[in-house]
Amino acid sequence: MKIATEPPKTPGLSVSEAQACILGKIIPLDAEEVGLGEALGRALAEEVCANRDLPPYDVSAMDGYATRAADIGEAPKTLQIIEDIKAGDTPRFSLQPGQCARIMTGAPLPPGADTIVRLEDTRPLEHDKVEFPIPVKPGTDIRQRGESMREGEVVLQPGEEITPGTIGVLATVKRAKVKVVRKPRVAILSNGDELEALDEPFDPRKIPDSNSYALMAQTQALGIEPILLGIARDNPEELASFLRQGLEYDVLLISGGTSVGVHDHVRPTLAALGVTIHFWRVEMRPGHPVAFGTSDHALVFCLPGNPVSSMVCFEQLVLPALRRLMGHRRLFRRAIPVRLAKAVKTKQGRAEFVRATLSRDASGAYVATPAASQSSGNILSMTHADVLLVAPGRHNALNMDETAQAQLLESAIWQSTPDTELDGGFLL
Ligand code: AMP
Ligand code: MG
Repeated sequence: MKIATEPPKTPGLSVSEAQACILGKIIPLDAEEVGLGEALGRALAEEVCANRDLPPYDVSAMDGYATRAADIGEAPKTLQIIEDIKAGDTPRFSLQPGQCARIMTGAPLPPGADTIVRLEDTRPLEHDKVEFPIPVKPGTDIRQRGESMREGEVVLQPGEEITPGTIGVLATVKRAKVKVVRKPRVAILSNGDELEALDEPFDPRKIPDSNSYALMAQTQALGIEPILLGIARDNPEELASFLRQGLEYDVLLISGGTSVGVHDHVRPTLAALGVTIHFWRVEMRPGHPVAFGTSDHALVFCLPGNPVSSMVCFEQLVLPALRRLMGHRRLFRRAIPVRLAKAVKTKQGRAEFVRATLSRDASGAYVATPAASQSSGNILSMTHADVLLVAPGRHNALNMDETAQAQLLESAIWQSTPDTELDGGFLL
């Protein structure tokens, strides 16, 4: 009689089911107040209102002359210059018929003025006279009071991601401090007897612990500074002591030891420490033997040991969780359709994440070239990846010239040459 030595292979969750399971257990962390220097990339935790009209009065949008359009009427016309107004000045005179004022960008309009004429559309005459050779349209080049924002108007909503532009708005409304969602405290643990720590002497028979550092960097890329707990050996007592430390954090990331090998102690040890495992195995490649659990206050991700699997699981499952904890609304990497420069074989039945570089073809369309090695053990395939191409489980290949969705990784926003379209706007 044959006896099964492995647990039955029940199918795991799909990637989106796993994401829904995780996100369903997360509520954003509480708010804290930070200075503008620490606010970039955080989610706003309050509504922000304008504290004055901006501009506070009608101002000139150009260097030129403040005029009464009716005075210029049928150009050319000559007007008398009565004063110079710079940004920050208060005009001293009202414009009377036949008068104008030299005015700089951002300076307040003198009473009576209704139109700005750009300097380049005028001709200087003797000392206090200027000629307007072409007709003007009333109201030209004036920024009206309150045009950018009105006092009391809500300018930023809770949940908005703080970008450099947002920081500019916060400074505009004089918010030196702002309420944002607190960052999660994240701990990272590697697991395995074969692992060699970065600061350990070189031993050619060992496997360097790269996961602690790749996961650290993926976490840092989200603006979070994680703690590295180190390496737990494949022994339940040592592992339990590391896990106890890790469960003090908001999020614990463990790589290695989560599969079905006899030395894979992570899941049973977590269960013994009171962690509820909500799922184990996700129908994805790389990254199938991944588990997610919760204690009463911590989220626990058990990631596969293979370096690429651990990073891809972070991308698909940990990243949206950390972003939700941080109060963000946009939880997922943006995906764009790209054309495949080369075919790549995939296996049917699991969503496959294919590492690829991104370039543009002669027509400007995005083209992805899959990395030569798609082995989950080959960390080099992640180094040069701009995108993760998604091959849905129903496919057994992504064919050349086919269109696939590409999740944009950090490096994808940079390119080595400027956009040629930029030249199109100039009249040379
Ligand atoms: P495991 O998930 O423990 O079965 O490990 C699967 C593979 O990943 C093995 O070849 C391990 O040597 C490798 N591995 C596990 N942890 C790490 C790590 N922290 N850094 C690099 N490789 C690892
Ligand atoms: Mg192991």
